[in-house]
Amino acid sequence: MKEKTGAAAAGTAGSETAAQETKTDIKSLTLEELTAEVIASGEKPFRAKQLYQWMHQKLARNYDEMTNLPKTFREKLAREYTYTSHTLVERRVSAVDGTEKYLFGLSDGNVIESVLMRYHFGNSVCISSQVGCRMGCRFCASTIGGLTRNLLPSEMLDQVYAIQRLTGERVSHLVVMGTGEPLDNYDYLLRFIRLLSDENGLHISQRNITVSTCGLVEKIRDLAQERLQITLALSLHASSQEKRKALMPVAYRYELEDVLEACRYYFEQTGRRMTFEYSLVGGVNDTSKDAEQLAKLLEGMNCHINLIPVNPIKERDYVQSEQRVITAFKNKLEKYGINVTIRREMGRDISGACGQLRKGYMEQAQ
Ligand code: SAH
Repeated sequence: MKEKTGAAAAGTAGSETAAQETKTDIKSLTLEELTAEVIASGEKPFRAKQLYQWMHQKLARNYDEMTNLPKTFREKLAREYTYTSHTLVERRVSAVDGTEKYLFGLSDGNVIESVLMRYHFGNSVCISSQVGCRMGCRFCASTIGGLTRNLLPSEMLDQVYAIQRLTGERVSHLVVMGTGEPLDNYDYLLRFIRLLSDENGLHISQRNITVSTCGLVEKIRDLAQERLQITLALSLHASSQEKRKALMPVAYRYELEDVLEACRYYFEQTGRRMTFEYSLVGGVNDTSKDAEQLAKLLEGMNCHINLIPVNPIKERDYVQSEQRVITAFKNKLEKYGINVTIRREMGRDISGACGQLRKGYMEQAQ
């Protein structure tokens, strides 16, 4: 039964003890699964809904806060299930645009990073999907130490829940663009999305959820068949296979044409317009020829391109393109009728770039 939930023993890549491994992670269960567990333990079914609401709507940090549940029931839960809750390690607020960066501690001592961005349309949270990452993109700070482990569905939820609790403001949008490759943690990612968009939880619309991937072809195709209403963002970063290989080792595994074919399939199956992310790296992928090639590559696709001026990290010598080069690149794409935006840099004064806050923290801790 524990295996069936898919959430038991999930954090075991870390250092948990054998006793903990056998416990089910309660916050990763769907209401249906939770109800079955509660009934099997001899409790009334309505207790499951109360419990679920405490976890996913009232965002309780522990069983003690669940005051309308009998104490004996809460004690039983504490004995039989693990209950994840992040500790706040650091919170930085940008003086420039109100962006907030969080470092959260997990129960096994790992640390992850999440970001809150305030937009006119609402509050958007950027979460991590793994502790570290094994994709190896050349310009990215999150991948330098490799992958430690997957995050549980509950540990992805907790990033949103902790931020909503700490700010007292509703989170309406979510992007999975923090540390990790979400499609490398596919099953837990799906479970997380379903829990987050569940009407008995925070009920964040799937249309307000974006998942960003470096392009794992089989997983994109699987995701297309889940018929979710989320937006898929593909990290493209180059308009030819050769250039992509130089920036993203994952390109050695998949041909660019196969990646794009999977994206077209995603659109066909879901009706959701694709987003392509293109980090502009000075002198590497930002010429007018690159723009032209990119426009031709995406010709006829219903898509949107998000240009990201690369955020230089100290371990590599990549530099940002000059402002006029960025503008010229955008104009060129628009000439071809492509929908394009330049990503506004948020929270620059607080180590806003991917994985930099966590990395700085880990280096200090060593
Ligand atoms: N693994 C996912 C999510 C990662 S981060 C993916 O690859 O899409 C989200 C986006 O930020 C990706 O497009 C990633 O390539 C980009 N990115 C990472 N580090 C960056 C940097 N230093 N400057 C600009 N973009 C970066």
